Amino acid sequence: MRILLVEDDENLADQIKQSLLDAGYAVDVTGDGEDGHFLGDTEPYDAVILDLGLPIMDGQSVLRKWRADGKSMPVLILTARDSWTDKVEGLDAGADDFLTKPFIVEELLARLRALIRRSAGQASPQLECGPVMLDTRSGKVTVSGRAIKLTAQEFKLLSYLMHHEGKVISRTELTEHIYDQDFDRDSNTIEVFVNRIRKKMDILIIHTVRGLGYRLEWDEAAT
Ligand code: CA
Repeated sequence: MRILLVEDDENLADQIKQSLLDAGYAVDVTGDGEDGHFLGDTEPYDAVILDLGLPIMDGQSVLRKWRADGKSMPVLILTARDSWTDKVEGLDAGADDFLTKPFIVEELLARLRALIRRSAGQASPQLECGPVMLDTRSGKVTVSGRAIKLTAQEFKLLSYLMHHEGKVISRTELTEHIYDQDFDRDSNTIEVFVNRIRKKMDILIIHTVRGLGYRLEWDEAAT
């Protein structure tokens, strides 16, 4: 899962970024609204954390422009304490959730998880597919109760597929959602990751759809 963070307070931005990285997200950060708007307009994010008070273009305008252009990714806004008008106007501008500064980073992560799973049509923080379970809170993956150790990139890839169970996902889409914009992307590595995950799980849950990509699905008859 890939997150855009638009926050002009550098200390806060660094702190949030590190927490997001630790939680297994790919993260792009920018400190001004115009750049933030451009990134959200051109890159496919799974969620956006958007401060409202930003230089060049304020957060509310950024959000209104995205929504007017049909961008539907979940957006969580960061608002100043006690400013109920910020919250109301932000939600009316198309925000999905808000958090008031100062906040505890665990709460931000929990709200983000909820936004991402809801936008993927998942109600539970525990994603299940046949014998495979991925807990989005702890980052733990099990197969029939057996814990599987995945690298950060393998986890990102599996998490994206688990959020989109049953859908065909192209290599390009996977690449765009597990790497940040500065990463030197190589879609061939996707196949390497998929093969490693298959080996570690020892069951076939990630199917190759020739010429199109991958589909995560549990088919008891096929095993
Ligand atoms: Ca600010």
